[in-house]
Amino acid sequence: MKNDETKSLKIQDGLPVQDTETKNMEMYLYSLRKMAEHNVESNRTFMTDLYNLRAFQYKGAEVMRLNPDLKYALILMDLANFKTVNEFCGRTAGDELLKCIANAFRRYESELVIVSHFRADIFAMLTPFEEQQELVEIVKDITRKIAEFKIACKVLPAFGICIATDPTMSVSYMRDYASLAMNTIKGKFYSNYAFFDETMRKQMLLEKQIENDIVEALETGQFRVYIQPKVNMETGEIIGGEALVRWCHPEKGIVGPAEFIPVLEKNGFIINVDIYVWTEVFKYIGKRLEDGKKVVPISINISRLHVYDNTFKDCLIHLKDEYHVPPHYVPLELTESGFLKTENLMYTSMQELKEHGFLLSMDDFGTGYSTMAMLQTQPVDEIKIDKGFIGDMSNPKSRIVVSNTINMLKELNLEVIVEGVEDQEQQDFLVGCGCKRAQGFYYYKPMPMEDFFMLLK
Ligand code: C2E
Ligand code: CA
Ligand code: CA
Repeated sequence: MKNDETKSLKIQDGLPVQDTETKNMEMYLYSLRKMAEHNVESNRTFMTDLYNLRAFQYKGAEVMRLNPDLKYALILMDLANFKTVNEFCGRTAGDELLKCIANAFRRYESELVIVSHFRADIFAMLTPFEEQQELVEIVKDITRKIAEFKIACKVLPAFGICIATDPTMSVSYMRDYASLAMNTIKGKFYSNYAFFDETMRKQMLLEKQIENDIVEALETGQFRVYIQPKVNMETGEIIGGEALVRWCHPEKGIVGPAEFIPVLEKNGFIINVDIYVWTEVFKYIGKRLEDGKKVVPISINISRLHVYDNTFKDCLIHLKDEYHVPPHYVPLELTESGFLKTENLMYTSMQELKEHGFLLSMDDFGTGYSTMAMLQTQPVDEIKIDKGFIGDMSNPKSRIVVSNTINMLKELNLEVIVEGVEDQEQQDFLVGCGCKRAQGFYYYKPMPMEDFFMLLK
């Protein structure tokens, strides 16, 4: 039904005088709508008596359809720590808090503003607006009302706001986009709201595009293995390498992993890509050993997604056997989650791989949470100090942290390598601290595998 027709129904609350068939049809639609509205009224969340999600979507779509000349926004709110509130202050206090939030939303409710309590601690409002600042004021006002509620724990509301691109935009899309925006600021303290904007929209499209392209990329061999050499800083000699994946995209050219690995980790394809990279590395080393050529260890990255997949260790054991590669030629780089005892499956797999002769390297050391405690007990052979650690060697405090970290690791009998060395100043300082091994643009950037082996000659 067209907007103007419905409007005339709404405004006159009677029936337009037209021929009998149209009249019957409109009467039928009119009664259907009345029935739907009646049902909607009973679709309310029990505790707060606000519309539930279903009613919200229906009422929201109706308002937008009947008033197409206005601009609309959907504001979604979730508490970052409602579980803690329930645990520490009790369920009764939690329920009272939800009622207080419901009241803060209810104050805005009108013919044109639909408010809702979706479930648990999730509330929403669909409202017309003129200036974006009005929406920010609503968020601030609700935040103030929540802050006034007397409760022993700090309550952290997070808001996501989606502005409709046009009045026909689906309310459920608006809800999804607001939710994406909200997730970008959950747990952050500097702000408690975010708009779904052009950058997020582009990022989403990009992710979708990558998801679409990835299967073909795997099937047609668009992934390539690059190697970044590791060097002895005192002699300049190449002592090893790290395998890093690149996507040779038919249109975009060479794409770095930062762009596509987060997407692959979300949809699980990182496992296929990892196995491809590992196989290439084992194959190449095996071939060189067979030909009696010079070989240095080439480390491979193990994505944390393998934590949930206990077949990866069998895969590595199979690869070393199939290509006759002594495992110390392929050290395994993992970030600290791989060494967490709580990640039971991964931890046992790592122990087993160690028993098979693989060396374990803790990647990005210094960027995680529990690395210090883990050093005492973990089956790790090498620590790879993250590039963030050595970013500013002119800062005296950074120098103290770096030199003492290296000393501690050496005392623990761990091999140390620093990554991200970009200039002579960093190199001199690290050598002065007794660290010999490094990887970084100051020496070499990652290069195609063939170039790396040419370099070894
Ligand atoms: P990572 O394992 O920490 O790898 C080191 C990254 O630092 C590489 O980026 C490398 O190019 C970069 N890098 C090396 N030296 C320098 C330097 O001097 N300065 C700066 N600014 N950067 C330097 P890349 O190749 O873009 O890889 C990024 C991340 O992607 C890797 O971080 C790793 O976590 C992941 N990754 C790469 N290949 C694979 C793979 O095959 N499998 C898995 N699971 N992850 C991979
Ligand atoms: Ca690595
Ligand atoms: Ca690293």
